[in-house]
Amino acid sequence: MIDIDTLVRENIKNLKPYSSARDEFKGIKDNMVFLDANENPFSNGINRYPDPKQQAVKDNLALIKRVSTENILLGNGSDEVIDLVFRAFCEPNQDNAILLPPTYGMYKVSADINSVETINVELDEEFQPRVDEILNVANEFTKLLFICSPNNPSGNSFSIERIESLLKNFSGLVIIDEAYIDFSDQSTWLNRLEDYPNLIVCQTFSKAYGMAGIRLGVCYASKLIIHILNKIKPPYNVNELTQQKALDCLEDYNIVELQVSELKKNRKRLIQELETVTIIKKIYPTDANFLLVKVDDANKRYNDLINKGIVVRNRSNQVGCHNCLRLTVGTENENKKLIEVLKTL
Ligand SMILES: *Cc1c(COP(=O)(O)O)cnc(C)c1O
Repeated sequence: MIDIDTLVRENIKNLKPYSSARDEFKGIKDNMVFLDANENPFSNGINRYPDPKQQAVKDNLALIKRVSTENILLGNGSDEVIDLVFRAFCEPNQDNAILLPPTYGMYKVSADINSVETINVELDEEFQPRVDEILNVANEFTKLLFICSPNNPSGNSFSIERIESLLKNFSGLVIIDEAYIDFSDQSTWLNRLEDYPNLIVCQTFSKAYGMAGIRLGVCYASKLIIHILNKIKPPYNVNELTQQKALDCLEDYNIVELQVSELKKNRKRLIQELETVTIIKKIYPTDANFLLVKVDDANKRYNDLINKGIVVRNRSNQVGCHNCLRLTVGTENENKKLIEVLKTL
């Protein structure tokens, strides 16, 4: 059994967190006079500091996701969550993290910012993790393993058995990034938090929820891990406007479900159409709201598409993605336009 306490950096373990005005006084009732935070008293809806614990958002998420609010930490995008994990668990210039390329670029950037070494173990030909290699390269300084499933940029989900084997045998924290889980046929690892004390699940409001603009990332983990991350997060890291928009979204959650099911339909149709495009040599299996496709010449086709007013992501420089473009599933009309243009190339 992993002892999370032994993974935490010493300075974080000993840290006394900043205590904000709203931390020190919690018993808010109607008609109270707030003279504690040096705010401007004239009401405009956002003149007060936001709730540093984002309780209302967490209460709604906890109900929808069937976890306790104490298993949730909210961040200014997943990017902040990833950074908090590095800062809490990785000693700069000493500890390391394992990445599985091709993967999401932010893990490496966040590691670099925090002076944390990364060890790459490339995915196999089917874009699946090589479990034995991962466990073999891990050493006494390996604290984190980033698993992106469904994987960006390949789009596929990782094998449940392989993830489970990593959760059981890796002796650091396993971060499963589920940014695209809503589009996947596989179920979330969220309901396995109790089985694996080293599991951290990251989700986001940026993709299926249609709220990339509010910057809201969600981290689910054991109460112990959440407590550690809460100690080091900036007190007001999720602003009032973001909290309000997130609440609106969660109160109309059925809209998200409707849009996801429409996008899954669009994805299926898009794949069928892409199969008839001659410059496309391969369409990789996807469980996300995007598709990785191999074309004859990615740099050329990327520019061809730009010239016709369509922007896609050129992933040709990523390991295992030579001549690959990443296409986000759009509306029916957008997808139609993409297909029309591709057929003229
Ligand atoms: C888009 C994406 C995110 C979302 O990041 P935010 O900072 O929450 O917008 C996280 N992980 C992966 C793999 C992504 O592709």
